[in-house]
Amino acid sequence: MTEPIRIPDDLKPVDGRFGSGPSKVRPEGVEALARVATTFLGTSHRQKTVKDEVARLRRGIGEFFGLPDGYEVIISNGGTSAFWETATFGLIREKAQFAEFGEFGAKFVKAVTDAPFLADPTVHKAPGGGAAYLRAEAGVDTYASVQNETSTGVAVPVKRVAGADPGALLLTDATSGGGSLDVDLTETDVYYLAPQKAFGSDGGLWIALMSPAAIDRAYKIKESGRYIPQFLDLVTAIEQSRLEQTYNTPALATVFLAAEQVDWMNAQGGLAWAAKRSAESAAAIYGWADRSTVATPFITEPALRSNAVATIDFADGVDAAAIAKVLRANGIVDTEPYRKLGRNQLRVALYPTVDPADVEALTRCIDFIVDRL
Ligand SMILES: *Cc1c(COP(=O)(O)O)cnc(C)c1O
Repeated sequence: MTEPIRIPDDLKPVDGRFGSGPSKVRPEGVEALARVATTFLGTSHRQKTVKDEVARLRRGIGEFFGLPDGYEVIISNGGTSAFWETATFGLIREKAQFAEFGEFGAKFVKAVTDAPFLADPTVHKAPGGGAAYLRAEAGVDTYASVQNETSTGVAVPVKRVAGADPGALLLTDATSGGGSLDVDLTETDVYYLAPQKAFGSDGGLWIALMSPAAIDRAYKIKESGRYIPQFLDLVTAIEQSRLEQTYNTPALATVFLAAEQVDWMNAQGGLAWAAKRSAESAAAIYGWADRSTVATPFITEPALRSNAVATIDFADGVDAAAIAKVLRANGIVDTEPYRKLGRNQLRVALYPTVDPADVEALTRCIDFIVDRL
């Protein structure tokens, strides 16, 4: 047995959480939650105390993203995975087209492909580390892409599909990109996310910023008489959200932590501040990898490198899993890569909750470990 590697405290980040989701939750948020431990937690979600927090969250999200006229913030339970099923039942009229370039995009494709009432979707695929793009196709009523593929660390701009059929919708999975990456919401119809990534809360909710066209589509599909499971009924989610509540019981702590976090992010300067902070963290880690003799950014095309989630490959002979293990033993956690990608890699969340100085510290810790492995 060799001695375990101990990283000196003065090299370590202040906060050692670098997971891509669930991600770092600010202790200040948890302290605020503790202050409402007896007045908010454990109280009815149909009463004002809880509805006020739902309202605070919806208002804060709208402010953060500069909600365009007519767009609405819709929330319900089940996280992004539940939203995929909800969209399958309630937003796609007949045929969808997907840009798939990682595990998360693939999951939505599977939900739609499995739906017996929809046509087989068109899927443009790119291998892990690249990006796939949507392109106009007659007969497609719904386009879908991921803004930030959390499994690979590829980010793409949110942009409408030029030449798409009139009325076609664009759905953007912003689960990990939303809050870290810039966006103009008028370029998409549904920008959906879950609060356990950049919004530094806990899982279990989905939040969708929906355009008037998307809301209208949801009503039209429901009126068409299609069978829609009650839990996945988007119109119900829309109408419940307008009443500052959810169809069934939400995790009250998740709602509160998300509202607290969004207020904090808005106080710092909103999306412009958040995107800049994530960009600073990205510059720190990609810059380090570019200078390193053992580390390189996995994404070869610099324009695709995500400012939300960085993936860093290591040279043969330098075992990334061993680095992650030493980091973990020293309290620096969740730098392991996405399992199924199967690379000799570390993955690091750059969400605005994470301090860029901590990302710098992480790179020094990795150098320290590599020298001693
Ligand atoms: C984490 C993640 C999801 C899954 O979110 P859940 O709330 O766990 O269902 C979907 N898409 C992307 C891009 C993600 O990063």
